Amino acid sequence: MTDNELKQIKLFALEELSKSFSQPTMTLWFDPMRVVAVDGSCVTISLPAGRKSFVSEQYYPILKQVFSNIIGFETDLKIISDEEEAELIEEFGEKIDSAYDTRFNPAYTFENFVVGETNKLAHSASLAVAKHPAQLNNPLFLYGPSGLGKTHLLFAIVNDIRASHPDSKILYVTGEEFTIDLIESLAKKTTMAFRDKYRTVDVLLVDDIQFIAGKMAVQEEFFHTFDTLFKMNKQIILASDCAPKDIDNLEDRLKSRFVMGLVADIQPPDFELRMAIFKRKALDFNLDLDMKILYFLADNITTNVRQIEGALKKLKAHSLITGEKCDYNMAKEELTDFFANAKSEESIIEKIFAFAEKRYGVKVDEMKSARRNAEIIAARHYAIYLIRKTTKLSQKSIAKLFNKKDHTTVINSISFIERKMQNEPAFEREIENVINELHS
Ligand code: ADP
Ligand code: MG
Repeated sequence: MTDNELKQIKLFALEELSKSFSQPTMTLWFDPMRVVAVDGSCVTISLPAGRKSFVSEQYYPILKQVFSNIIGFETDLKIISDEEEAELIEEFGEKIDSAYDTRFNPAYTFENFVVGETNKLAHSASLAVAKHPAQLNNPLFLYGPSGLGKTHLLFAIVNDIRASHPDSKILYVTGEEFTIDLIESLAKKTTMAFRDKYRTVDVLLVDDIQFIAGKMAVQEEFFHTFDTLFKMNKQIILASDCAPKDIDNLEDRLKSRFVMGLVADIQPPDFELRMAIFKRKALDFNLDLDMKILYFLADNITTNVRQIEGALKKLKAHSLITGEKCDYNMAKEELTDFFANAKSEESIIEKIFAFAEKRYGVKVDEMKSARRNAEIIAARHYAIYLIRKTTKLSQKSIAKLFNKKDHTTVINSISFIERKMQNEPAFEREIENVINELHS
């Protein structure tokens, strides 16, 4: 959202609040607030440090309600101090979606997962596991490209089992978290506690399991975790960006275990599913869209459900701020840039991957995997550097594109390439040429 839009949202909030609070209260506690960021699951506001805790204690529920009403759907609220805001901005160089952890989301349920041809197997398998943990489909292995609902389904399973079996011990981690946890426990000599944590659960979900590939000790530990749970008839659920057989550098004994239960893929949504998701999300967003707009949207957004949400949020923000109803012309005008940017960035990224593939003889999947052989690492650095220099993608989005959770990978790649350019003039010229070509 632009600064103006954020300011506008603040004005709406002040107007709402002024219906319930006196002028002095408004002046003292609410006027100094700044709306820092709004995304699909969270509004972040900042306040002067001295006021943050009082406002958080006294007014959190009403603020959350007010922002939810303005945005048009239930949203989380995060209150930070102006100092924290400054730190955040400095730390990340960009305040976009770094102010909150969007990881766990109780709003991801089966009820709001839209089912179509391309995801119905993954959906029905997940539902079966949630209804009958450890009886069918163990392990359940979901895979598919980013942004198509794997994490949504994992959380839906968690939420469902929590509701029906409140006593069962459920543990959700990402492959990266499992790795970090293990490394810390090795360093601190607390492996017993680590094992206790992972080997005594009823349901273990590991998202982005591909992360453990290529890491000997981690795979070893995961193998024993898996076997222990499996023998005790506990449910295991895994998600990955590709099928077990395609995860490079994953031990064979893990590959064979991952396919012992049910393996289900998710493919990019077909036209019908895109329409259905748009309809459903428009309802959730409290947006009234006619068929023509829905067709227009489903025609233009083809690869990724996350983008669908992005487009709707943009429309919602616009009609909120202008007070206009969203009609076809408005949608077209508002989203043309959105599509154009998405398209041209997509095509630039495709070209970059093609360049990197050709130069290093490494496939895109390998660049996006956790594999660490020298050629792959070099190709990954090269692609990341070029994407950062030629698109508007944030470091965090680029990290995501490469299935990395945090942006340090991106920073490392950039400094690696910059160093290489300094040391090798020929390489520097090559990079300049590529960038020129990409821009033309
Ligand atoms: P992945 O883990 O596969 O990268 P996510 O589960 O994070 O993808 O999904 C990205 C976003 O798209 C989430 O906000 C999710 O709720 C939404 N989404 C994906 N598929 C669907 C679907 N079939 N119905 C509703 N929302 C979906
Ligand atoms: Mg995910």
